Amino acid sequence: MISKKVSVLCCLIGLFCCGCSQTAADVSQGLTTAADEPVTATIFAMDTYMTLTAYGKGAQEAIEQGQTCIETLDAMLSTGLDTSEVSRVNQNGSGILSEDAANILTRALEISAETDGAFNPLMYPIMEAWGFPTQNYRVPDEKELDALLERIDTSQVAFDAQSGAVIFLREGMEMDLGGIAKGYTSTKLMDLFASCGVTSGMVSLGGNVQVLGCKPDGTNWRIALQNPDGSDNYLGVLETSDMAVITSGGYERYFEQDGVTYHHIIDPSTGFPADSGLCSVTIVSADGTLADGLSTALFVMGLEKSIAFWQTHSENFDAIFLTDDDQLYVTAGIAEDFVDAYYDVTVIEEG
Ligand code: AMP
Ligand code: MG
Repeated sequence: MISKKVSVLCCLIGLFCCGCSQTAADVSQGLTTAADEPVTATIFAMDTYMTLTAYGKGAQEAIEQGQTCIETLDAMLSTGLDTSEVSRVNQNGSGILSEDAANILTRALEISAETDGAFNPLMYPIMEAWGFPTQNYRVPDEKELDALLERIDTSQVAFDAQSGAVIFLREGMEMDLGGIAKGYTSTKLMDLFASCGVTSGMVSLGGNVQVLGCKPDGTNWRIALQNPDGSDNYLGVLETSDMAVITSGGYERYFEQDGVTYHHIIDPSTGFPADSGLCSVTIVSADGTLADGLSTALFVMGLEKSIAFWQTHSENFDAIFLTDDDQLYVTAGIAEDFVDAYYDVTVIEEG
């Protein structure tokens, strides 16, 4: 669906891009797209609302190809679709992944290794035990989860990235690429936009944003970060260009039972929702795949380990952390670009 309502939708998904609130060109009526008028589309895929925005020459082609790209990746990666590649491998315990799925699994396993297993692309059996895929929520006991931890051991995956051949060496192992797929998709969309000749564009995939270049007027994009308290008071605004800005938070998906809240980001060392003291983690990186993988991993790792991790990888990403007690931390690389902060900001310096 080509839409004029990009600014409204961006607000609805909780993370908006202040640079995209101009009226979209009505491409459905064949009007010419002026350089400063965006072509936009909104679609529902990967369980979330997505908005694509592109400016100038090549914009309409970029948006059309972008939608096809998202639909293709969704059909490939969805665990909710029995016929997807990921589901087939999960059902059979082995299979051959196509190029995109193999690329994602390669990066997922790398990020898993770099984060000491805090990111784990094999979480599906545990997500199922909690009822997240079906929304038939339940609280599994520790014994059940301990048994399932056997099935998320990444050393028990035989994977050849070249051919895409993957074999699970233990019974009951299943992939879940939901912690990284949107970041891979947004980076692929930016490459696709560029190949269509677009130099200014933005995608928001369920609040995970990636921008190409600057706004058409040459100024930086302004990306507002959602406050986990659900209020309209944004955590702050990041002024940036050519970056992915990807957030993980327990508030994004959760259920309550007996007065306890259980969210969807699981600590692979316990099988329980991560309780690291962090409420939200935003990663800023030119590499959307890395940003998505790390947003999930650093949420699991907690503030102290995340700071140490950033200090040894600061050339690859920056981060914004909000703790459960509303302490806001921003890494030095983006401290000047993070404005209008709702709480006092503590800047994390290089080690
Ligand atoms: P994100 O919103 O990017 O943090 O991804 C969360 C999703 O990733 C969850 O809904 C699960 O599908 C999956 N997931 C949960 N815990 C983990 C984990 N520790 N590592 C990797 N993926 C996870
Ligand atoms: Mg993630």
